[in-house]
Amino acid sequence: MADIIQLLPDHVANQIAAGEVVQRPASVVKELLENSIDAGADVIKLILKDAGKTLIQVIDNGKGMSVTDARLSFERHATSKIKNADDLFKLNTKGFRGEALASIAAIAHVELKTKLETDDVGTCIVIEGSEVKSQEVTVTPKGTSISVKNLFFNIPARRNFLKSNTVELRHIVEEFHRVALAHPNLGFSFFNNGSETFNLPSSNYRQRVVNIFGNKTNEKLVPVEEDTEVLKISGFIGKPEFAKKTRGEQFFFVNHRFIKSPYLNHAIQSAFEGLLKTSTHPSYFLNLEVDPQTIDINIHPTKTEIKFDDEHTLYAILRSAVKHSLGQFNIAPVLDFERDATLDTPYSSKTDVTKSPKIEVDSSFNPFKETKSERGVARQTTSFKPTPSNWDSLYIGLESKSNDSETNFSHLTFESEEKASTLFDDKEIASDTASSTYQLHNKYIISAIKSGMLVIDQYRAHQRILYEDFLKDITVKEGVSQQLLFPLELHFAIHELDIIKQLKEDLEHTGFVFSNVTDTSIEIKGVPVILPESEISIVLEQLISDVQNEVPDANFSAMDLLAKSMSKSLAIKTGQALKKDEQEHIVNKLFACKAPNISPTNRVTFITVGVDELDKKFI
Ligand code: ADP
Ligand code: MG
Repeated sequence: MADIIQLLPDHVANQIAAGEVVQRPASVVKELLENSIDAGADVIKLILKDAGKTLIQVIDNGKGMSVTDARLSFERHATSKIKNADDLFKLNTKGFRGEALASIAAIAHVELKTKLETDDVGTCIVIEGSEVKSQEVTVTPKGTSISVKNLFFNIPARRNFLKSNTVELRHIVEEFHRVALAHPNLGFSFFNNGSETFNLPSSNYRQRVVNIFGNKTNEKLVPVEEDTEVLKISGFIGKPEFAKKTRGEQFFFVNHRFIKSPYLNHAIQSAFEGLLKTSTHPSYFLNLEVDPQTIDINIHPTKTEIKFDDEHTLYAILRSAVKHSLGQFNIAPVLDFERDATLDTPYSSKTDVTKSPKIEVDSSFNPFKETKSERGVARQTTSFKPTPSNWDSLYIGLESKSNDSETNFSHLTFESEEKASTLFDDKEIASDTASSTYQLHNKYIISAIKSGMLVIDQYRAHQRILYEDFLKDITVKEGVSQQLLFPLELHFAIHELDIIKQLKEDLEHTGFVFSNVTDTSIEIKGVPVILPESEISIVLEQLISDVQNEVPDANFSAMDLLAKSMSKSLAIKTGQALKKDEQEHIVNKLFACKAPNISPTNRVTFITVGVDELDKKFI
């Protein structure tokens, strides 16, 4: 048989390599920014059009390239950064594989302009799909400018695979954050479609973090410093009370390179143990310096995962350094005694059963009680406050509760036999038994129905209720607003505030009143009635993170997202004890919803267990 193996032509090999190196516009941004840093630039400008789909341009004032180097830089495995395999273990540059420019040029229209400081004129090379179109002498300042246009122009499948501009831009911003945080001493600017999104002058590390994530970040940072033989740590952790629901602000840099490390992340998480609310994640911005000999960076094409020689030691040092900072800055006592009272309110009230406002009980008096005046009275007389000194009333309460359920029980057997149909035919809710609710493990509300019982997930059910309320407020534009006594000023990063601005009108329909909106802050004068003042920033932060994490599809609707996000933030959570009337309120409101059976995120809100099913179990 004839030989069949052949070497792939360069442009095909480059395209294959591009598949690994360039996944989306953000990958190009990362490679170009890193090249500029390696070239010793201290001012770097990133210009985008259509979130990089049309244009990604990086302009730097680095050392530039000679004519020959400019041409060679597009060859695969062409690099000035290493000369032999040993160099792999002494790396102090970002790049070394020599494949970024070759890969990018294989799948885009690229124009490179570059000039050495010592030369009078520079070089301009145009290269499209690995094919050099032109190479000319050009007048250009010292440094390098690379424009990458029409990414994936020759691989339609990849181009079609790109997500919406919002999503692609989010990925780019993420890469930009990583590079800019790793190099606070360098100046960066960032333009998308002509408007400046970031302008980060050379600064110290704290200022860099604040410039990126907004002024509000400053008060949240606690410094971490540690200097040992094997590991040097510097940077900041976020105070525990500002921990986020998402993992957005978690950054490790090893020798100025952003890396992902679930293992080291665990070290931090465990240092915070006992200080965080459940399912929140601490922010951190940490620089680790280790001997380049003790790490292997070349285990991943995008170099975001690295291998450490002695992970266990690093884990231990990191954990103790973070613990030390938390202790030194009195984080633990602060949590217990000095925490800002306004921040406390929402959480303490969530677990505090006795605090449920009595007035609310009366005002949200449920229709069932009104029709059954007899039982209403019974409940009022038997209502009890579980104060430790009031054992008698506690006992009475329990006693009458059991009486209550007994009467209900007899009612149920009686009436279900008599009545042919009920108010809620389809859901088979016996209206008279709706008041017999019971809360299980502070998580489920059990309610008797004609055919058996309902088990309702309280969190999902309340989400559904609030979601429909908000959606109605937004569409009908009649959300009721409550005025704040003092306007509240909140600071955000520019890209975060952009999101709020986009949703401003819809937010206003839910009841928000904004007075002064700048590039980095908003002043809030009124909020939806349901929103406690202490939760405003939490709700808005959740909203921003939900918008950022949303993968918009054809049905993407800002209104829907807003309603979903707010209902998620404000719904009664699992773990919260509910009084009887609160339980009933949820049951009644849920079945007044358009789609009571699913939560806004398409989860089941309740299940039914039939008497026949129970009967079977008792055979
Ligand atoms: P690597 O960065 O891994 O060496 P690249 O393909 O990214 O590979 O770049 C190839 C070479 O081109 C680099 O080694 C460097 O010498 C040169 N180069 C790339 N970008 C720049 C730039 N902005 N300024 C100066 N030289 C550059
Ligand atoms: Mg490179």
